[in-house]
Order: sequence, then C-alpha cells, then structure tokens
Amino acid sequence: MTATTLSASAATLDQRIDDASKKVESTVIACRRDIHQHPELGNRETRTSKLIADRLRALGIEVKTPIAHTGVVGILKGGKPGRVVALRADMDALPVTEQVDLPFKSTVRTTFNGQEVGVMHACGHDAHVAILLGVAEVLAGVRDEIPGTVKFLFQPAEEGAPEGEQGGAELMVKDGALENPHVDAVFGLHVTSRYAVGESFKIKIHGKQTHGAYPWLGVDPIVVASQIVLGLQTIPSRQLDVSLAPAIVTVGAIHGGVRNNIIPDEVEMIGTIRSLDQKMRDDIHARIKRTAEDIAAAGGAKADVAITTGYPVTYNDPALTEKMAPTLRRVAGDKNVTVVNATLGAEDFSFYQQKVPGLFFWLGTRPKDKTAEEAASNHSPFFYVDESGLELGVRAMSHVAVDYLKSN
Ligand SMILES: [Zn+2]
Ligand SMILES: [Zn+2]
Repeated sequence: MTATTLSASAATLDQRIDDASKKVESTVIACRRDIHQHPELGNRETRTSKLIADRLRALGIEVKTPIAHTGVVGILKGGKPGRVVALRADMDALPVTEQVDLPFKSTVRTTFNGQEVGVMHACGHDAHVAILLGVAEVLAGVRDEIPGTVKFLFQPAEEGAPEGEQGGAELMVKDGALENPHVDAVFGLHVTSRYAVGESFKIKIHGKQTHGAYPWLGVDPIVVASQIVLGLQTIPSRQLDVSLAPAIVTVGAIHGGVRNNIIPDEVEMIGTIRSLDQKMRDDIHARIKRTAEDIAAAGGAKADVAITTGYPVTYNDPALTEKMAPTLRRVAGDKNVTVVNATLGAEDFSFYQQKVPGLFFWLGTRPKDKTAEEAASNHSPFFYVDESGLELGVRAMSHVAVDYLKSN
C-alpha cells in the first residue's frame, strides 16, 4: 500500500496524463461510436449537447449551456492559480448518407433544405467530441496540479449553420465563449489535413416555363445550367495558371423541375471554390460570374450569381506554434510531427484566432493500410477514422493545455 501511494505521488504530472490517456482510450472510442451512430446536423446537435453536458458535470466540471444554440462550455479550475487555456471541438455532422459498413454505421435520416438526406459524421467531428471529453476526464483527474483554468469549447455548426441562422465559432465568440474567464490561448485539432480555403457560390438560372414537348415556346434553364456546369470546369482547367497554386470549382447540387414533361422556370445550383491564393480567389469569382451570366445570356436566360466568402484564413500564431511544437514532438514522436507556420484552412476555428492566439493542428487517423490517395477524404460517404489514433489526440491536447499553463 505504502509503495503504491509513494509511486503514485511520485509520478510526474506528465506521467499521470499519459497513464490517464491510456486509461480513457476505450471510453473515448465507445463515446465516438455512440456519437457516430447518432449524428446531428449543425445547430441541431441536441443529443450530442446533452451527452457532453452530462459527462462534464459527472466529472465535476462547471458547465455553461446552451451557448450559440447547442454549444456547451466546460470550465475546469485547476488547483493552482494561472492563465486560461481553451480547447475546442466541433460537434456537427453532414448531410451525407454513410456508405461505410460499420457495426455503428449511421442510418439517421433528416430533412435538410427541404430535401430528405442521410446524416453522417463524414468530417470526423464525432472523434473531436470524444477526444475532448477524454481530455476533460484526464485533466479533471489531475486538476489539483493544474496551474490555471482549462475551458472546453464544444461548438455547433462548424460546417455552416442552416440557411437564415447564425452559428459556429463566430456565434460562440459573439455569445462570450472566450470571456468569463477570459481565454489567453486556444487550441484545436482536426482528424485530417486536406483543406484549402473554401467559399461557396449559388447560381440561379431564370428561364421560361413551358411544356416539355414544345421547348421553343420557353427558355430551358436545365440545358443552360448544364452548359454552365461545363463552362465552370474550364476556369481551373483552362483559364487559371494552376502551376502557381491549385484551384477547384465544384458544383455540388443542382435543383430544378418537378416532372418529366414540364420545362421549369428556374434552376438553382450551388458549389464550392477552393484556392490557396487570395488574388486567384478574386479572379475566380469574376470568372464564375462572367461564365454563368454570359452562357445564360447566350441561351436567352438570366443567371444571378451570389458568392459567399468563406471563413477567414486559419492562421496559427507563430509564437504560440513555436512554443508548443516541442510538446507535440514529445507526445507524438519527433518524426511524426510536421510544423507549418501558417495554415490555410476552411475552418471556422479562425474566428477564435481573430480574438486570441490560437494553434490548430492535424491528427492523422488514416488507416495504416491505405495511402493518402486511396483513403476516402472528409465529406465522402466512405470517410473512415482509424480509432487507434484517438488516444494520441487525447494525449496531445492534454499536454498542450498543461504545458501552455505551466509556461506562463
Ligand atoms: Zn468538414
Ligand atoms: Zn471538419
């Protein structure tokens, strides 16, 4: 008994965190599977929100909810005075029908923008929530030794709020997630790294409705839309110098028409623009507008083009990155960490970084038997998270939080 007590108290804080991370691994995986099987779209994460709040309370962590619709903030006051560090996880799933054959596969369906859709954690936010709850458990277990306060930010709607609603990190900040107590630095992680700056566009093509057998009596917006889709593809493939920076224009949805023998009045298409260069971005906007409007005009139709600027660029604070890099190297192993000073990402984490220094890092969860090219990307119905990577996520976040507090 004496020996056990001695070794327990002699264990350093770092060792205690490592041991606790191992211990919570199975809970983290079970929690991730539970959330995976019950995915919820942005601003609708009520079950997930309740699960998070219940767990935090059970750990003796102060809970503030709701915030930013379904968000939850947990506040863990350490046993020693110090600064305040925030750790963030996003909670929302996507309107994607899961195609991965898992025992905990999602079969959830819901209505999104008036359409019936499947719902899936195709971006890995289920893993982010499970990891952060694991971190909460680990840090609650060593709270007496923590010099400062850890705030857990569980944020809704990272992928964007439903039309007409506010949400995500922007609303979390507006609703005071970074205040009371004021946050000195914020950290976040994501289970993959395939991101580029993202923006979306919406094109409405106005034609003239008529009978499907007499197209000459109207203006067919479906044919015009088809031409615009192909026209847009020539922007990256034929008009931009992609040897300077990659660029993508994707049409992700087209809606128009109700039955086989009516040429509809209008067609709406939505899509996304990705590029890594600000100047190129502006140029792409102009070309999308011109392509859509001029093709529509050629067919006697009219196109309204609306482009929504994406999230600001996710910019890792250089001083904070330099300061925390040794921690990540120590935790993951030197050769497993690649540090980039500035990261371009379509991530609303940037809204926190606009207020306080922040660091966002990637966690590899690609199955070991798959190359980067073979593995399904985020948002794919085949997106798959190798759960053996989750424990590293818990350890990395826990150490980053504690090392940050210790260094101040
Ligand atoms: Zn995503
Ligand atoms: Zn994501």
